[in-house]
Amino acid sequence: MSNVPNAELPKTVDPFRLAEQNSTLEGFVPVSALSRFAEVILAASSSEPAQQCQVRLTFGKDEERRRIVDGELEAEVMLECQRCMKPMAATLESSFRLGLVTTDEQAQNLPRDLEPFLTEDFSVNLWTLVEDELLLVLPPFPLHERSDCQATEVLESFEPDPDEPDPAEEKRENPFSVLADLKKNRH
Ligand SMILES: [Zn+2]
Repeated sequence: MSNVPNAELPKTVDPFRLAEQNSTLEGFVPVSALSRFAEVILAASSSEPAQQCQVRLTFGKDEERRRIVDGELEAEVMLECQRCMKPMAATLESSFRLGLVTTDEQAQNLPRDLEPFLTEDFSVNLWTLVEDELLLVLPPFPLHERSDCQATEVLESFEPDPDEPDPAEEKRENPFSVLADLKKNRH
């Protein structure tokens, strides 16, 4: 994503008016202001620059005259590696296309490539929109590259999560057991 201006993304806008004007909004959202997202990543230490999400949103209409928003975002954040529990740097990126709708019925009728963006009045909070998109691209199980991970030596003894389905249950679908069967049959 090319550099966006070093200014905060406007927070509250009228998306319908922006679509009429074919406006593009660019800027950053401070991650510390996104409470749901800030809770699931590691906070930057006081010696580091504040974490920011760079955002570009282009409002307009598609060939069917639907009001749409094309968005791109990028954020450098620290996540907790789920193998060694140490911090790891990650770049979260997303690009998305939203269809502006005012009713659930309109949302149902959108084509599949448009994500519904439901707004009941002429004012939306773009920071909340950015937060929702960030949560969507957050990896559920972040892991260092093996060579960078401080827990490499315990890889093999990694304990399964007790909340996970019974491994015996999963065995049937394990692609490696299929592979093992193929090898056996070759002899
Ligand atoms: Zn690790």
